[in-house]
Amino acid sequence: MGDRVHSPAPNLFDDDTFFERPAPEPAPPAAEPGAIRPVNLASSLFFESPAEIFARVHRELRPRTAIPSIEVNYKPFADPNSRVRLENGAISVQITDLLEGAPAPVTEALAHILLSKLYRKDIAPHHQHRYRLYLNRRDMRGKIDSTRQARGRKTHKGPQGAVHHLEAVFEDLNTRYFGGMMLRPQLGWSHVRSRTRLGHFDPSHNMIMISRIFDDDRVPLLALEYVMFHEMLHLRYPVDHSGARRCVHTPEFKAHERQFPQFKEAKALLRKL
Ligand SMILES: [Zn+2]
Repeated sequence: MGDRVHSPAPNLFDDDTFFERPAPEPAPPAAEPGAIRPVNLASSLFFESPAEIFARVHRELRPRTAIPSIEVNYKPFADPNSRVRLENGAISVQITDLLEGAPAPVTEALAHILLSKLYRKDIAPHHQHRYRLYLNRRDMRGKIDSTRQARGRKTHKGPQGAVHHLEAVFEDLNTRYFGGMMLRPQLGWSHVRSRTRLGHFDPSHNMIMISRIFDDDRVPLLALEYVMFHEMLHLRYPVDHSGARRCVHTPEFKAHERQFPQFKEAKALLRKL
């Protein structure tokens, strides 16, 4: 609307008009056909269903493609995983039920991550960040750990191997390097003779798992001891969860690790496995 020049109002200082309430605001003019109405983003996010969020993100990622039918289901996975599939022109999304109550912006970030993966597009870092930050919250970490414990399957054999007993290896290192003060966690050999995952500390099970590749008298004991020592340091230096990214090998961790006698020799052995 253009400015309109008003003619001076009559009787401005009439007693009655002085106490009059201001006239109600005129109704906004009707939107012109095709005009875009402003949307309150926060409240629109709040009221969208997960499938609607995925549809909106789909439109953002592929603006010139008709939105396919999208089905979103929450599943009781053991880990905080989610999957997306495109089949016969329909998208099916399975999200861990750990995220069933997640705030809409987190679901939106996940939609960006999954749909970008589906269409092989780069994922904007702020979506990754928001999603990770949420999973890294203390309450979420607790939920994830207990769910994993309740639903996960055992992936290891016990500590008694064909050649080495892991409890003996642990206690020997404990005495030599930790003054015998370290509480022994669960110990187990992996089922698989993995060369890529030599050892692993799982805080949710308080468990150190060692690759069965070391349960072999052709592999020097020093290699096994070094891997066990490394995993024991994970017990000693809990993971720093203060940011979106988990820092597993902190500077203190690395400094302590270098104190392992024959550190270089042990590392060289691992490279030759
Ligand atoms: Zn490590």
